[in-house]
Amino acid sequence: MALIVGLLKETFPEERRVALTPKVFDVLKKIGAEVWVEFGAGVDAGFPDADFAAKGAHLAAADEVRKNASVFVHVRVPLPDGLHGTPHGTSIGFCDPLSNPDLAAKFAAAGATLFSMEMIPRISRAQSMDALSSMASIAGYKAVILAANTLPRLFPMMTTAAGTIPPARVLIIGAGVAGLQAIATARRLGAVVSGFDVRSAVREQIESLGAKFVNINLGGAKAEGEGGYAKALDEEALRLQRQQMATFMSEQDVVITTAAVPGKRAPILITKEMVQAMAPGSVIIDLAAERGGNCELTKIGETVIERGVTVLGPSNLPATVPYHASQMYARNIVTFLKHLVDKEGNLTIDTTDEITRESLITHKGEVVNPKIQALLGVNV
Ligand code: NAD
Repeated sequence: MALIVGLLKETFPEERRVALTPKVFDVLKKIGAEVWVEFGAGVDAGFPDADFAAKGAHLAAADEVRKNASVFVHVRVPLPDGLHGTPHGTSIGFCDPLSNPDLAAKFAAAGATLFSMEMIPRISRAQSMDALSSMASIAGYKAVILAANTLPRLFPMMTTAAGTIPPARVLIIGAGVAGLQAIATARRLGAVVSGFDVRSAVREQIESLGAKFVNINLGGAKAEGEGGYAKALDEEALRLQRQQMATFMSEQDVVITTAAVPGKRAPILITKEMVQAMAPGSVIIDLAAERGGNCELTKIGETVIERGVTVLGPSNLPATVPYHASQMYARNIVTFLKHLVDKEGNLTIDTTDEITRESLITHKGEVVNPKIQALLGVNV
């Protein structure tokens, strides 16, 4: 039977993205997929029902979509209970199984198949399915816009009849996908930008974007982990990092932190004292807020003001740019779907393939991913 895809409205609070956009329907048509779309699923992202209908989607109420479709695509996968027309349905989307393995257990109990977009390996063959990178780029961009909007100063240098305004000084800590996009955006706005990352390979990337690399001696600690990611630093190396960063940070107008280690709480890189040493009016944007935060004072989704310094811990920034975030995410999703279907357009689960195997979390009533099995204490 051909692939029948269901697109339901997102249910997570303030989630405005949608997992498919009308633009990707040409690809879906090519792989022989039929698509059922819940009324209003794309409205918050700027994609009205008529645009989906014009591309051949069946528009229907949520229950009808559930009844007719078997593969559900989501931005954030909701709980499985009662959501699938068939208990053997398949869900694909962000579900953060490393932090939330219980959701996987519920999918297994419901007999449903679950694929995690976070777990798609970051190998070159899977680059166009890499939704973490797509969303991190948007978050990095939006963090700078947020900082510029909060800072009581201008970003660019201005020479005017009313005097010369110096450019803002911006430090980006953690130069992965989000950090590099933040550096590029802050540079475009005319700031003087510096960057730091524990992975030494990143130095060249920071400098090629026109930013200065901040030299920090971590006392020989090894920070390169597997797959291009960082390894968690021990407390002594983190102490050295904080100590050397403190003076430099106190001279910045804006600090944007994005430092993270896969599957771990984000490291604390900014203490209360370091915040207090910044000039009043300075701004910290903690992009690691959802993973525990890089600043000791961060409160997720809140604005904290400490001696005149504003600390923002935004959550789900990509949802604040829903049109383009959905467009990029939809491209990642359909590329992944295309990867999963055979020539006849049937969904196939070939676990000899690395992309399928690593992103597959539950199947046939079992949690099948070893990393999630280990977290749940399932005997392998
Ligand atoms: P991430 O969100 O896990 O981490 C963000 C950054 O924080 C990383 O660059 C990490 O080195 C840095 N970091 C960790 N601890 C730190 C500390 N104490 N101080 C300063 N920085 C710290 O990472 P990400 O942005 O998702 O990806 C990181 C890297 O993964 C990429 O730069 C790349 O090398 C690799 N990657 C590869 C592909 C691919 O090949 N398709 C795709 C995406 C990413």
